[in-house]
Amino acid sequence: MFYGNKPVLETLHGMLRQDRAAHGFLFYGEAGLGKKTLAKQFMAEMLCTGTDKPCGQCKSCRMLADGVHPDVRYAEHTGKRGGFSVETVREIGMDLVSPPNEGKAKFYLFCDCDNMDARSQNLLLKAVEEPPEYVYFIFTAAAPTVLLPTVRSRIISLAVTPVTEQQCFQALTERGYAPEACQEALDAFHGNIGQCLNFLEKEEIRGIVGLTKSAINSIINRNEYALLQAAASLGKEREPAMLFLTLFDRTLRDAMALKYDAGAACIGCDAAGAARLSERLSTAAAQTMHLAVDKAYAALEANVNLPLALSALCASCMDAG
Ligand SMILES: [Zn+2]
Repeated sequence: MFYGNKPVLETLHGMLRQDRAAHGFLFYGEAGLGKKTLAKQFMAEMLCTGTDKPCGQCKSCRMLADGVHPDVRYAEHTGKRGGFSVETVREIGMDLVSPPNEGKAKFYLFCDCDNMDARSQNLLLKAVEEPPEYVYFIFTAAAPTVLLPTVRSRIISLAVTPVTEQQCFQALTERGYAPEACQEALDAFHGNIGQCLNFLEKEEIRGIVGLTKSAINSIINRNEYALLQAAASLGKEREPAMLFLTLFDRTLRDAMALKYDAGAACIGCDAAGAARLSERLSTAAAQTMHLAVDKAYAALEANVNLPLALSALCASCMDAG
């Protein structure tokens, strides 16, 4: 079951009904929205040999579900920074000339192609422009701009968006989580099913949400020591720090939105903190903090020493507040 995203599903179903599917797709949107699930669903409908597609019963459906369908290939992340190496793309270029093993279609997936470099994209361009009639390419990425305009002009780009909190709640409880736990996940990640599941499944993610809340609380109470403690507890890995910055920045955004509209919907993980922050912070202060977050983010991307980047952020926030 793929929740929400009606326009995207209608576009895809419309193509399948008319038997006129494009040969390249880009599903884009932030992590956790179900881009890969959507790709799998689309492939299942294309490859299924049953009547009510996808039937879930036929050989194709079962092979796809088990991740062993011979006509579905996920490009390996062999390149730098999680990209795809030239060798991998070349090898796929050679592979796509041989017809499908099972059905009428063959799929090549480039998932999370946010760091796919221009060279490998250019190598793939010819195949994307004029693929054999049985070949389909699916790309997934956070933003459409990660692909070169030349590649993008040959494929259909579809935005995958969060679902409503109600749909998300349903998706989570269907997996057997207790309603209270689901509500906590929703409060932090709203209509992003994947990120809500991450929250429910991973202690570490719940920890980062907790640290974000204590950082916000420290700013409200002007407690620099507590703020530094929260930042230090993030450890030395980049990923948790990135998530912390994203969540922290969303709460700043929420505080600003609440200043102008007390009923504004929050996108961050700490609605209560955002409400208190909106009373405490001037617009200029919030803007300064937002810029400090941007700076910290850029420093992490450039692999600058993480504790240094975070303590600079703490200092800017204290000065601004
Ligand atoms: Zn089937």
